[in-house]
Amino acid sequence: MQPMNFKEQNRVILPPATLGILGGGQLGMMFTIAAKTMGYNVVVLDPDVNAPTQMFADKHICKPYDDPEALQELKQCAAVTTEFENVSVSLMKQLAQSVRVSSSGECVAISQNRIIEKEKIREAGLQTVPYRVIESDDDCSEECLNFFPGILKTATLGYDGKGQIVVNDLRALKKAFSDLKKVPCVLEKKLDLQSEASVVVCRLDSETIQCFPVADNVHKNGILFTSTVPSILNSELQERLKNYAIQLADDLDYVGVLTVEFFIVNDAQKIYVNEIAPRPHNSGHYTLDATLCSQFQQQVRILCGLPPLDTSLLRACTMVNILGDLWPQKEQEPDWQILLQEPFVHLHLYSKKEARPGRKMGHFNVLSDTPEKSLSTGLNLFSHLESDH
Ligand code: ADP
Ligand code: MG
Repeated sequence: MQPMNFKEQNRVILPPATLGILGGGQLGMMFTIAAKTMGYNVVVLDPDVNAPTQMFADKHICKPYDDPEALQELKQCAAVTTEFENVSVSLMKQLAQSVRVSSSGECVAISQNRIIEKEKIREAGLQTVPYRVIESDDDCSEECLNFFPGILKTATLGYDGKGQIVVNDLRALKKAFSDLKKVPCVLEKKLDLQSEASVVVCRLDSETIQCFPVADNVHKNGILFTSTVPSILNSELQERLKNYAIQLADDLDYVGVLTVEFFIVNDAQKIYVNEIAPRPHNSGHYTLDATLCSQFQQQVRILCGLPPLDTSLLRACTMVNILGDLWPQKEQEPDWQILLQEPFVHLHLYSKKEARPGRKMGHFNVLSDTPEKSLSTGLNLFSHLESDH
């Protein structure tokens, strides 16, 4: 059977229909809260018995992603979405034969593989960081010299800076390729970044698109640390970034929430698309408190064939990530009162059972009059939390 075309089945799905979500981490949890608030039922598939989403979902299918019974259960949903891109595309395609699925398996497949992703970004007329595909020892040749200093990244399964090694010469490249088990990789030139930014675009069809405000992102050790809105980039540049994100979504005929990460270098002479995510994104968590609607409401709405809501910004906001590193000892929680006593700070914790270094445990949003103030308050509060160790 051919997968159903989203437009052919442009029936609107109304509450209390049941929506399915693949993956029960924090993104699945926030999708579920948004869906439940709107009156939908939610079924989540995640093999982890403690997956945060199960606290809010009507049903938790606690089975592996390739379980045939899980597939049958999900087929009973009115529509299914995903919280992560490393989900089985074959599962998504099987589901799409009988259920509405967004984002599409095709778009998820693109974002699973940096090599395909970069090709698609270029086909859409946008620029990627200069790169070279490395699939064998022979690829680690003289041609790589132009890419040093570089970063070797595995083509698949990388996240939060994992699967990446900085390399400065051919010897280091060969060793890094071998350390990464010689899986297909891309060698990217390591850029001197002026800044990083992202745009979350919500697309139902070519006429029905909303972009959230551009966020300025700061990473630490390859993991997002802060996102701040409104962006301090000039407004012309912000418009360009939003238009690029729309261009990409249009080119992919994307239906759903798509996040586009940008690198800005050389006084904005160059703008590169770093990568895309076929879903709401950590850098869009400010939308939970600072815009008229959240990226998760948009995910629910588009999945249900409804137009995205207005995305206007209400206040300046800085989102600060809370990683497992903040837990001094496993049993001892950070001093949340530091955040909870503040009238303009919204704490979001994901109720994960185990705090591990680098693991995303929560985030907080600081609202203020200006992005400068929200950022400095956010950084201050973060260092209080840290020094409480
Ligand atoms: P992930 O999939 O883990 O998010 P990214 O490719 O987005 O991986 O890299 C994570 C972060 O590492 C980026 O946000 C950026 O801060 C830094 N980084 C990645 N690639 C480059 C590069 N080519 N030049 C400079 N910094 C980079
Ligand atoms: Mg990234």
